[in-house]
Amino acid sequence: MAQLIDGKAVSKQIKEETAKEVLALREKGIVPGLAVVLVGEDPASKVYVSNKQKACKACHIESFGYVLPESTSEEELLKLVGELNEDPKVNGILVQLPLPRHIDENKIIHAISPKKDVDAFHPVNVGKIMIGDYDFLPCTPAGCLALIDSTGVEISGKRCVVIGRSNIVGKPMAMLLLHRNGTVTICHSKTKNLAEICREADILVAAVGREKFVTADMVKEGAVVIDVGINRMENGKLCGDVDFDAVKEKCAAITPVPGGVGPMTIAMLMKNTVTAAKIQNGTL
Ligand code: NDP
Repeated sequence: MAQLIDGKAVSKQIKEETAKEVLALREKGIVPGLAVVLVGEDPASKVYVSNKQKACKACHIESFGYVLPESTSEEELLKLVGELNEDPKVNGILVQLPLPRHIDENKIIHAISPKKDVDAFHPVNVGKIMIGDYDFLPCTPAGCLALIDSTGVEISGKRCVVIGRSNIVGKPMAMLLLHRNGTVTICHSKTKNLAEICREADILVAAVGREKFVTADMVKEGAVVIDVGINRMENGKLCGDVDFDAVKEKCAAITPVPGGVGPMTIAMLMKNTVTAAKIQNGTL
């Protein structure tokens, strides 16, 4: 039976450290602030936004919530982002994705000031991550990295396989593992011999978005398995991209869903907001 990587516990520790840091900043008159913008009625997005606001409260970060109707135009959203860019109380801006179809997500991401882009989605921040000179790490991959570190497994020199190449998870995840001297392979829907490649992985990260996609025969004995996927099963319960029950018998360490990567994403968002506040106040 594998070691269960407890994302709730690791994220709690990160949030507690962040809260202490925020209290120290507040003593200096610096109050980190995060604007969270939700457009429309997507139920999953509503839950994510509410969890992010709760985490702000726990970390003593000021949160500014903007709940806009589905009918909000691209222009209106761009105007709000422009105002938030100029607002000194707001250190970080998070626009919850996905946005309604009539709004061009890229336009919105590009409009957020790179200094306040705590998701690290802006091309400036993506470029900085590419060259290894960054202020913010993208929250989900940074969370995965912290979970791998929590196992005590050294990344340097290891075979790392990332399934998924999205801009939000797969690509930056691969880049972070590369910066840590992993030997990284990125797989996607056109990859041939996927199972064979996955079986070579000492560290396997699944970010596919398909229920129980990674089966036990795709996993090397003793691997560290990080499951990013959040899929809702027919019975309404959440499940990851990894067939947890079968894979846990084979690997050395594995993240559960829920309770693995999910809470880490939020903890890293809090950390990024504090970093943004420090940079904007000249204390970093
Ligand atoms: P995307 O849909 O943007 O990307 C999915 C990736 O998986 C694509 O690169 C796609 O390949 C690849 N893929 C799909 N089918 C296959 C297949 N049969 N074989 C190999 N590769 C395949 O998803 P995201 O990266 O945004 O998210 C991935 C999962 O992680 C989702 O379940 C999402 O809900 C979850 N997630 C969880 C977060 C958390 O905090 N825990 C945060 C963000 C996401 P191709 O590029 O060729 O299409």
